Amino acid sequence: MDLVLLGPPGSGKGTQAALLSEKYGIPAISTGDVLRAQVEAGTPLGKRVKAYIDRGELVPDSLVVDLIQHRLLADTQQGFILDGFPRTLPQAQALDTMLAALNRPLDAVLYLQVDPEAVRERLGQRHRGDDRQSVIDHRLDVFLDQTAPLISYYERERKLKLIDGSQPPEVVAASIEDAIRSLAGSGNGSSRTPSRS
Ligand code: AMP
Repeated sequence: MDLVLLGPPGSGKGTQAALLSEKYGIPAISTGDVLRAQVEAGTPLGKRVKAYIDRGELVPDSLVVDLIQHRLLADTQQGFILDGFPRTLPQAQALDTMLAALNRPLDAVLYLQVDPEAVRERLGQRHRGDDRQSVIDHRLDVFLDQTAPLISYYERERKLKLIDGSQPPEVVAASIEDAIRSLAGSGNGSSRTPSRS
């Protein structure tokens, strides 16, 4: 099962990715976590990306695409859950290309919908370096500008599933389960058919 979790910062992607990872025994891959670990470890990649993360900007596509490319070839034979990638159209296109080469198109993109006010409140309660108010506002703008276009991209690919992310985590998890069940029950039980676009 190859899934993407899409949604604004603070929509609960990390929480749901961890639950899904546990339930299905497949890795949750968070580009944010990987990048922060690189910053912590003071690696060359970490040094390059720190300023972007601190400002709430996206790091350049080529860096995250490389990172995901390596990661997808590691231990994802049984599936994966991507949390925080893709975040731009070029990243989504790069992911499609990578997965097409592996002959394993995405099964679904789960879009966690939460309104901006609720997200601001949630992020204000976290204690991450980039969760200061000015940076939060910027990250939300970046989401609207650069990531929200992926909603219609995946709608066109017929991959998008809308999930009400404003509910408590266990309710969101149940909605995700329903969406996953509906995938298994749809037609041939697999989405591994070529898209016509
Ligand atoms: P997150 O933990 O997903 O909220 O990501 C934290 C920060 O890491 C973002 O604000 C970006 O600076 C960077 N980041 C994470 N994922 C990506 C991505 N797919 N593309 C570009 N930058 C990313």
